[in-house]
Amino acid sequence: MAVFLPGGALLPPQQQTLRGEVVFSGIGLHTGRFSRVTVCPAPADHGRVFVKSGVRIPAEADYVGDTTRCSTLTHQGEVIHTVEHLLAALYALGVDNAEIRIEGTEAPALDGSARPFADGLLEVGIEPQGVPPHNLFFSELVWVRDGDRHVIAIPGEGLTVGACVDFGRPYAGPQNFCYSLEGPHRSLEAMQLGGRAWGPCAGLLPQLRQPAAEGGTPLSVFLDELAPARTFCFEDWIAAIRAAGLGSGGSLDNTLVLGERGPSTPLRFPDELARHKTLDLLGDMALVGARLQASVIGIKAGHALHVAAAHQIRKLVHDPQHPGDRPSPAASLSRSAR
Ligand SMILES: [Zn+2]
Repeated sequence: MAVFLPGGALLPPQQQTLRGEVVFSGIGLHTGRFSRVTVCPAPADHGRVFVKSGVRIPAEADYVGDTTRCSTLTHQGEVIHTVEHLLAALYALGVDNAEIRIEGTEAPALDGSARPFADGLLEVGIEPQGVPPHNLFFSELVWVRDGDRHVIAIPGEGLTVGACVDFGRPYAGPQNFCYSLEGPHRSLEAMQLGGRAWGPCAGLLPQLRQPAAEGGTPLSVFLDELAPARTFCFEDWIAAIRAAGLGSGGSLDNTLVLGERGPSTPLRFPDELARHKTLDLLGDMALVGARLQASVIGIKAGHALHVAAAHQIRKLVHDPQHPGDRPSPAASLSRSAR
């Protein structure tokens, strides 16, 4: 496997793209239709942009249409479902610039996780581009909520994502996970610092588990601990998911189904649900369209709240009261080498 990560850092202080093209194909989880995605190198400052039937759709929150059970990008009548796992892999591997050509209407489900995407991207190799990255800094706390579901983004350095879930069921009680692209020492530290700043969240933070603290690099932790966590659903959700016209491509090969008798296939991790939610959050945070400098925690959250938070963060940068997209005092989009 050809892996090139300058200095061993997961996100080096320069933009990166791929060294060549890589193809992923298979059935889409929700449409049940075959699709083929070709991820291609792109120049510096290009960003991650999908191309479907000649329409260019930047992977940014402004282009998100529906968030029912997956994140869907839409523009000029074209729709691409379930982009989050591919985006999580691109973000975590530091692929800032890519043209993602898609034939079909949904990214392939593969095994329901981001690991096959990450393996394919690493196989083709990552190419540094010698141009400082776009970093998104903000100084206000961003908090979006819907009842007892929350996403809280705390300004920080580097990106740390964490998820707390509790479905109140066997195999799906309280689970917590967090992952930092800055390395093992950063994630809990960042969350705990944030917790001090935001009292009500503080009780939850010590419960966040960060296996990276037990060893490993940000890359190995992503590949071994986060990327393999699969899409899941509960047996008694399936009728409603199908009734909503979704999940047509769902199978035991790409979805972890939890029923009264337990998981459909052996769990990859005891807390696989919290890990997958963390992965989804990472993929949805990629929609800010820059390297986000924050600790973001989702509590019982899903795509709708993740994307709402990404919107809110982007709004801090692209504030209409600050014409010309100049950074507001609360946030800035910089191109500094950090
Ligand atoms: Zn997912």
